[in-house]
Amino acid sequence: MIPLTQAQQYVLSNIDTSRAMAIPIDEANGLITSGSLEAMEEIPPFDNTAVDGIAIRSEEIDRLNLSGSIEVRIAATIAAGSPDKVEIAPGTCVRIMTGAPIPSNCSAVVMIEDVVASDIMATISCRIAPGDNIRRKGSDIAIGTRLFESNTRLTPAHIGVLASVGFAKVPAFRRIKIGVISTGDELAEVGQALTYGKIRDSNRHSLLAIASSSGANVLDLGIVKDRPEDLRKAFLDAAKEVDVIITSGGVSVGDFDYTKAILNELSNGKAQWMQIAIRPAKPFAFGKIDNTPFFGLPGNPVSALVSFELLVKPALRKMQGDLEPLPRPVLAKATGAYKRTPDGKRHFVRSNLHVNNSGALAVKPLDKQGSHMLHEMSKANSLIIVEDGDGFLKDQEVEVLPLSAL
Ligand code: AMP
Ligand code: MG
Repeated sequence: MIPLTQAQQYVLSNIDTSRAMAIPIDEANGLITSGSLEAMEEIPPFDNTAVDGIAIRSEEIDRLNLSGSIEVRIAATIAAGSPDKVEIAPGTCVRIMTGAPIPSNCSAVVMIEDVVASDIMATISCRIAPGDNIRRKGSDIAIGTRLFESNTRLTPAHIGVLASVGFAKVPAFRRIKIGVISTGDELAEVGQALTYGKIRDSNRHSLLAIASSSGANVLDLGIVKDRPEDLRKAFLDAAKEVDVIITSGGVSVGDFDYTKAILNELSNGKAQWMQIAIRPAKPFAFGKIDNTPFFGLPGNPVSALVSFELLVKPALRKMQGDLEPLPRPVLAKATGAYKRTPDGKRHFVRSNLHVNNSGALAVKPLDKQGSHMLHEMSKANSLIIVEDGDGFLKDQEVEVLPLSAL
């Protein structure tokens, strides 16, 4: 058996980032930038009002501050989007709507709620200072502002910033396409009759879902029987269609576990079949077919998902430009004990990570830990990392990996 970190490092060292290209901003959420980006437009693009109100000149501000109240004639109304460059005469003011350009010789805007106004006159009796309620040109983003560094993961707010300064596209690592295959003579499709000896294929569906929530495009490549010629054809076809191939089943030591052998043949003898010192998810195969990374995950449904989390997800992150692709554990207090005996393996215990009544992170190990017990896994949101030994006690602080999508 090899340590998990060795398996992870091996995989990562054989993974390249996906191609960097200009991606339309509406397709870039969750992607990672491949270069830094500087603003070529400024925000706001002109001085404008932050409120609906009355814009006044500095002379009126001075009069107001001397006398406590002024009356000014309303010369015009300016709506948001108005293209006119306005300058007002002494003794006048304008009604102005949020976002509208400020007349060039106005110095502040009084909120409409603080004004008594008729159609032609405004009476102002509140305190006001120059600059009040004016959003200055370039105050959010000046021209030349560094918007993002390289290798920034784009969120909805980033997408909004890009749109606000006129970028239709953003340089980012291309979204990758993952093909998922299930292998096994025993597998039946959802919707097919379940004859004796068969089980339903759940892995393909859970793996398509987890790959898609990891930000990839996915392709369902179906079920392939445990027959070398079928597997060979399916793997070769997949390598032409997708950037990453994920299979489940057939990487163990059974008589019909052909995946690892066929993968090795198709990757010119360079595939690695590993026995990793972890539980669940000990067997794992990794190689490349025509330069397309191939992940052979174990067939047991819990093992397949844990293997994805520990070995596939870091690789996907690296492919998509993440500079720190390995998952990082958090510390939490165990609400129950976990007993184990030394077996040379690190255990990943399905668990529920939560915030307790004192506002601290706590984690509850779940009861059923069998690697075929997917229903129990579906209640878990985390894995407690338990090094080889006797386990942990209630109230002990433990390391936990949250099972999150990205
Ligand atoms: P294998 O790794 O092929 O020996 O499979 C290990 C166990 O996982 C067996 O009990 C299989 O029936 C089960 N299994 C394999 N593939 C799937 C799948 N796609 N969905 C659900 N169970 C599976
Ligand atoms: Mg099998």
